[in-house]
Formats: sequence, structure tokens, C-alpha cells
Amino acid sequence: MSMFGTNGVRGIANGYLSCELALQMGRAVSTVLGKRIAVATDTRVSSPMLRDALCAGLMSVGADVLDLGMVPTPALQHFIKQRPYVTGGVMITASHNPPEFNGIKCISGDGTECSKDEETAIESAYATEIPCVPWAEIGNTTHVSTAGEEYVDSIVSKVDAQKIRDAKLTVCVDCANGASVLTTPLLLKKLGVRAITINGNPQGEFPGHPSEPTEDNLSELKRMVTELGADLGIAHDGDADRCVFIDEKGRYVSGDVSLSILSGSILRRNGGGKIVITVATSSMVKEVTESNNGEVVYTAVGSPIVARRMAAEGGVFGGEENGGLIFADHQYCRDGAMGAARMLECIATDGALGDQVSRLPKYTTIKKAVVCPDHLKASVSEAIATRHADENVNTTDGVRIDYDDGWVLMRASGTEPKFRIYSESKDAEKAAARAERFVEEFEVLLSEAENQ
Ligand code: MG
Repeated sequence: MSMFGTNGVRGIANGYLSCELALQMGRAVSTVLGKRIAVATDTRVSSPMLRDALCAGLMSVGADVLDLGMVPTPALQHFIKQRPYVTGGVMITASHNPPEFNGIKCISGDGTECSKDEETAIESAYATEIPCVPWAEIGNTTHVSTAGEEYVDSIVSKVDAQKIRDAKLTVCVDCANGASVLTTPLLLKKLGVRAITINGNPQGEFPGHPSEPTEDNLSELKRMVTELGADLGIAHDGDADRCVFIDEKGRYVSGDVSLSILSGSILRRNGGGKIVITVATSSMVKEVTESNNGEVVYTAVGSPIVARRMAAEGGVFGGEENGGLIFADHQYCRDGAMGAARMLECIATDGALGDQVSRLPKYTTIKKAVVCPDHLKASVSEAIATRHADENVNTTDGVRIDYDDGWVLMRASGTEPKFRIYSESKDAEKAAARAERFVEEFEVLLSEAENQ
């Protein structure tokens, strides 16, 4: 079994994710990523223990460690990107997973997430006995306390800070007691925004609520925005690489809607450009992009895939519907605080978020999940593609069929024994009917695959 999932190595601390694993992972990381490694953590109780074990592994094979302490994942990535002499990095985090979990995420020397090839190389090295260096060559640790503020200052320099200050905005921030505590309140202060922070205690109370920033988990934030008459609510996940928004009326803004609004704003300022999104993203983004002189590029699901495609194609902005937003003028990774700053700039320029949302084209997107054993995923996918071969089929990720008035996507989950079925149309009844039809078709093809 592969150690690296879609977001690094994950497991329960002192269970699968032990000190022994972290120690050997440190040695393996240095073998592949080199001898000067920046390390940071989120706010989990187990993070210092795992960091210390990992750093011991790094130093035992002669690597020097730059310990950034507790900062968001994109602050670590920004630190690495700015310094050519830093050869790689490690983030100790399990993002939005429950508090008993933790994880090890590896970063390349350019600040982007490690590629699959790099992860495979680290995993191969992990399985070998990696010799320690003689005592005089053991690596050292330098503590760096400025990475969070450096990240914040870089964001402030990228947006129209004066315009945001002049708008005199009030914002509620929900940090989920995660790593954004160290950066987003500071960012808002520097942007002259009146900020009220909740779940802002990084001292082992992680998380204040389940730290996946879904609508259900943000009821407290929604209420606060309404009661305080704030202009915006901002919520991050545990390691603050993602951000989602609540409008001034206390309404949750879906990731597809955030992508649409930010795409429009960025394209208007740029006079056009490419927007990179996944095949699972609402056509709302495409419609907004094309009406603002832009072009949409579709990729498979996964933020590193979106980031790499942006770099290759010169995309100006991209992301995923889960709140992962990537800005080419800052860095090629999900960038939670940058997303917050861009949304503030967008409100200062174009007015209240709720009004902007109401001007967007309306789509109905239905998402369903059906059970499918892992070993049958490939044959079911193939059967779907074959059955629809004479239609407008796109197999970038799963099987997407585009119609004149909508689309359907059927794709195997990367992490669970499930298939996800998406159906979208401007006509709500059509979207529902197609979702129904494809769930039925899936069941038929699954039972055929089971009987083969
Ligand atoms: Mg995250």
C-alpha cells in the first residue's frame, strides 16, 4: 500500500503515525529533497512530537533544519519559494481531519507540493536502511520566527491595500483553532479591516469545531456575521491552505461561487487570461470567465494538478470547489490568506458580496455518492465511457458527458470505495432527472462488473 495519499502521509498520532515513522521519514525526505529542509506545523497536540522526531531523522543524515514553528501550509511554501538555498520542506498537518489524526506533507524546493514521482522516491528511500552521517556532519536546527509575517506582508504587497483600508470593512474570522490564528488576524490588521476572530486559540484546543469548512460547521460564524452586521465571514481549514466565505447576510458562499466571483474580478483587472479548474467545477465559472474575456482550462481533480497546469499554461487563477484557491501572481499552491485578501479587494472594488452573488448566472448542481468497491472502479469507468462513446465524452478524470444544457460527471473517489455522480444544468428538473438516470445506469453497470 502506498504511504502517500492525496494529501501526504496521514494517520492517527502514536498509532500508524508514530515517532519511528516520522524519524525514518525525515531520513527519506533528505535523501530525495536535499540537505536544507524547512519544517512547520499546524496546531495539533501531536505536531511538536512528530516534528521533533522528523527533524532528528533529517539531522541524523546531515540535513540542516529551518524550523518555522507553527504557521499555515502556504506560509511554509512561500518561505521555501523565496529562498533558492532551501532544498525542500515538510509540513506536519492533517488539514481538516479530526484531532487524533496528523500527517506529513512534503514540499519541493520551489515551494510547490511534491510531485507523485518525488513522493514515490521518498517512499522507496523510506523502505531502505538509510546510513547516518559521522558525528561531525550531523545537521543543525535554526529557529525562524518570521515566516508567518513574511507571508502576510507578501500578500499585502500583492493587493490594493489602500483601497481595502478605505472601504472600512468589518470581518468575522473563524480560525477553527488552526494555523490561520498566526496569520489571518494579522493580515486583516495590516489591511485596516476591523476583525473579530473566533476559535482563535492554538494552544491544544484544535479544533474548535470539525475543521472542514463546510456550511454545517460554520453556523456560529454565520450567526456572528449577521449579528455584528459584518461585511464578510472568512473560515479556514486546520492548516489554512483553504478559505471559504460567508456573505454580509450570513449566507454560506459555495466554493464554485467564490471561484466565479474571484475569476471575474481577476479577469477584469487583467483584461483576460486563463482560469484553471477541474472537470467537477460548476459551469458558472466557465460562463463568468468567458463573459470577462477569459478562457477556461479543465484538469483532473486535485490541487497540485491545477497548480501545475496553471504554471504550464500561464493561468492567472485557479482552484477547486472545496475552498482551495491558487493565485499565479503569488504562488502555485492553495493560498488561504491570499484568498481572503483578494475577496476583500473584490468587495472594496465591486460592492457587497451578496449583491455580487445575486448577479451570477444560476445553475443547479446535484452531487450524489454511490458505493463501489475499489477493485471494480476501473471496469465500471470503462463501461460508462464505452456506453456513451458516441456522445460528447471527456475522460480527463472519470467520465464527463457534456450536453447542450448541462453535464454529468461520474468519477471514482480517490480516497473512499465510492463513485461520485455530479449533474448540472440551468434547468433544475433536468439536472435532477439526469442524476437519477445516471445513478440507475451506474447500478446496472456495477452489477454487470460484479458478475464478470
Ligand atoms: Mg488544508
